[in-house]
Amino acid sequence: RLGQDSHLLLVTMHHIVSDGWSMGVLVREVAAFYEAFSAGRAPTLAPLPVQYADFAMWQRGWLQGEALDAQLGYWKQQLSGAPSALDLPTDRSRPPVQSRRGATVDVHIPSQVSQALKALAQGEGATPFMVLLAAWQVLLSRYSTQDDISVGTPIAGRTQAETEGLIGFFVNTLVLRAHVRPEETFRQLLSQVKSTTLAAYEYQHVPFEKLVEVLQPSRDLSRSALFQAMFTLQNAPTETLRLAGLSFQTVPVDTRSSKFDLTLTLVESPQGFVGALTYATDLFDASTVQRMVGHLGVLLEAIAAKPDATLASLPLLTAPERQQLLVEWNGPSAEFPRDLCLHEAFAAQALRTPDALAVICRDEQLTFRELDTRANQLAHRLVKLGVGPDVRVVLCVERSVEAIVGILGILKAGGAYVPIDPSYPREWLAHVLTDTGAPVVLTQQRLRDSLPPHAAHDICLDSDAADLACEPSHAPATSVTPEHLAYIIYTSGSTGRPKGVMIQHRSVLNLRVALAATVHSGAQPAERVSVNAPLSFDASVKQLIQVLDGHTLCIVPDEARADVRELVHRIGQDALDVLDCSPAHLRLLVDEGLLESQSIPSRVLVGGEAVDPATWRHLAQVPRPRVFNVYGPTECTVDATACAFDASPTPTIGRPLPNVRVYVLDRTLRPVPVGVAGELFIGGEGVARGYLNRPELTADRFIPDGFSSTPGARLYRTGDVVRWRADGMLDYLGRADFQVKVRGFRIELGEIESCLLGHPAVHAAVVLAREDVPGDKRLVAYLVP
Ligand code: AMP
Ligand code: MG
Repeated sequence: RLGQDSHLLLVTMHHIVSDGWSMGVLVREVAAFYEAFSAGRAPTLAPLPVQYADFAMWQRGWLQGEALDAQLGYWKQQLSGAPSALDLPTDRSRPPVQSRRGATVDVHIPSQVSQALKALAQGEGATPFMVLLAAWQVLLSRYSTQDDISVGTPIAGRTQAETEGLIGFFVNTLVLRAHVRPEETFRQLLSQVKSTTLAAYEYQHVPFEKLVEVLQPSRDLSRSALFQAMFTLQNAPTETLRLAGLSFQTVPVDTRSSKFDLTLTLVESPQGFVGALTYATDLFDASTVQRMVGHLGVLLEAIAAKPDATLASLPLLTAPERQQLLVEWNGPSAEFPRDLCLHEAFAAQALRTPDALAVICRDEQLTFRELDTRANQLAHRLVKLGVGPDVRVVLCVERSVEAIVGILGILKAGGAYVPIDPSYPREWLAHVLTDTGAPVVLTQQRLRDSLPPHAAHDICLDSDAADLACEPSHAPATSVTPEHLAYIIYTSGSTGRPKGVMIQHRSVLNLRVALAATVHSGAQPAERVSVNAPLSFDASVKQLIQVLDGHTLCIVPDEARADVRELVHRIGQDALDVLDCSPAHLRLLVDEGLLESQSIPSRVLVGGEAVDPATWRHLAQVPRPRVFNVYGPTECTVDATACAFDASPTPTIGRPLPNVRVYVLDRTLRPVPVGVAGELFIGGEGVARGYLNRPELTADRFIPDGFSSTPGARLYRTGDVVRWRADGMLDYLGRADFQVKVRGFRIELGEIESCLLGHPAVHAAVVLAREDVPGDKRLVAYLVP
C-alpha cells in the first residue's frame, strides 16, 4: 500500500517458468480473481485445453528424428562459418567472465521517420521488424568493422493455439545472420534480411540451448554464445486493464542487468518507435551508448530518405559530431615562417648567439659561428660539384660534429641530405646510391670502404677538412626555396625495394614550431639536447632542429648509445635537458636508474612504437622528467600527434600538433565516430612530397584531402589503426597491414618475403615478427622449399 488508494504489486518469477507472453496471462487472471473476490463471488476461469507438461511431451515427441534433423540442418548451414564474436569497440577491456550488470539508454525514433520506415517495409513486402533489424545490423557492422553480423531475437514460440492461455516458458531465441556488404543498397540488405527472417521463423522450433549444444561454438565466459547483440520489436501493444474502481499501470523496472553486450528493444507507439538500448556496463559508458543511439537515429533517417543508397554511403555522424571530428579536434593553425629555409633559420640563430655552443661530441665542440663557417665552406665545395635545389647528397657518417657540419653544408648548398647507415647491407646502400642519383657522397675516412662502388664524388669530412677550410667562409648564394627538399629518408618497402621519403624545408620548419608550441613549451634558453637517434631515422631530425632555437646539440656517440649504463651516466654528466628515445629504450634507462640519477632531463620524448600501460602509469607520476608520447610516420615529417603522459591515465598518441590534420576513416574513406576503429590519415604542412622515383606508390599512399579547402592539399594514408576517444585524443590500436617495428626499425614483412622468394630454392615464404619472450621481438621466416 502506497497510499489510501494506491498499491504496488510486485511479482518475481523465474524465467524458466514464465515468459513475456505469460505476463499478459498472469495479469488477466489475477485481475479476474480480484474482481470475483471483491464482489464476493467464487472466481471462475475457463478450463485450459492443455497444460505445459502436455506441451513439453508433445514437443519431445515430434522434435526428434527427421523433424529435428531438418530443423537443425537449416541452422547448421545457416550459421556455418559465422565469426565467433561481434567485436564491438568497448570503453573498457572485456572482463573474463560476464557480470551481466547493465543499464539502459532511451531510444525514440521520430514519428515521421518511423512512418517512412514502415512504408519502406510495406513496399518491400517486409515487416517493420525486418527494416529495423537490418538497420541495427548495419550499425553493428560499422561499429565492429565486421560484415558478418549475427543478432539474436526472441520469438514467442506459441505456434499452437492451445498454448495461448498457458503460463510457462515457450519463448525461443533465433539467431539472425546478415552479410552486410557496403557496396549493396539498403533495399538489397532488406531483401536478404527478409528471407533470413522468414526462414528462421520456419525453423524456429530448435531450442536455442539445443542449437548451442549441437553447433558447439567455441565457448567463452566473457560473452554469450552465437550472438552478443539482440533486437526485439514488441508490436503487440500491451492491453490496458480496467476493472470497476481500479486502474492499472505498469511500472518500468530497472533490472540493472544486461544479458548481452547490447539489446535494442523497440515498441511501436503513436509517437513512433520508442524503447531502449540496454548495454553491459562492464563494457560501455552511458555516453558511448548515448552516442550510439544518436548514430542509430541518423542512420534510420538516412535509410528512410534513401533506401537505394549504398550501405557504405549511409551517414552515422550527427552534424555536431562531424564538426567536432573534422574541425574542432584537429590541430590548431599556427603561424610559422613560410619564406625561410632550415639553413637560413640556423644562420639567423648563429648571428644571435655566435659564441654559444652549437654542438658537442666527445671532446670536440663548435660554437654557432664555427659551425656556420664550416658548413658554409663545405657548401661552396658542394655547389662546385653540382649540388643545388633538389639535388641529393648521400651522407654516410657516424653521429659526430662532422655529421652536423655535413647536414648543414648540404642544406646551405641548396641540396637535400640522404642519411644512410654504413652498417646496412651493401645491396641496400647500392640501391640508395643509384636511386638518389647523388653526385656527391659525404663520408668519413674509416667508412669510405664500406660503401659499394659508385659513380658519385666522395668527400671525407674528416680527412678532407683542411682542404675544405680553404673555401670561402660566407654562405653561397643558391635558389633554394622552402618548397625544395631538405632530406630524403629511406624506409622499408613491401615490394622488396626501400623507398625514399622526400621532405621539404617547409615541413621541417613547421615541425619546429609545432613542437615548440607543445612538447617544448617549457623550454629554457640554451638547453642541452641529446642527439642519439641514428641519422638515418627521422627521429634525429627533431633532435637536430633544436639547434635552430639556440640549444646545444649533445651528440651521443655510438658506443654510449649501445650501453644503457653508460648512457644513463652520460645523461647526467652532459646535464641533458631533453632526451628523445623509443619506449623500449626509456624502460631500459629507467631500470638502470635514470629516475634516481643526479641530473634528470626535464623532458623526455618517446615515440616510434606504442607505449605499454604499465610504463605509462609509472612515468605519468614522476615529477621529472615530464614524458611525452609522440607519434608520426616518416612520411609526415617525424611527428604528427603528441600527448604528455600526465595528461591521460592510459596510453594515447594524443592530439594532432599545430598545422596537422588527422582523420580516422573507414574503408570507404568516411569519418568514423568516436570509439570506432579506423585508419589514420594525416594531412597538413608535414605531408611529404612523396616517394622518390615511385609515382604509383606515391599516388597510392598520398591522396587528395577531400576535407580540406586548400587547393592541392593531400593526405597520407598511414596504415595505422586508431580510434578517437571522447576527450579528443587518439588511441593507437595497431597496424592495418604487415608493417612492423623491431628494435626501432620499421620493416615491411613483404620486403623480406619478396627477397626470400627471389631465391630459386624457395617456393613460398611468410615472415612474422614474433615476441615469444616479452621484450625480445624477432623476425621469423617460414619457408616452403
Ligand atoms: P617511422 O616512419 O619509422 O617513424 O614509423 C612510423 C610508424 O611507427 C607509425 O606508422 C606507427 O605504426 C609507429 N609509431 C610511431 N610512433 C608511435 C607511437 N608513439 N605509438 C605507437 N606507434 C607509433
Ligand atoms: Mg616517426
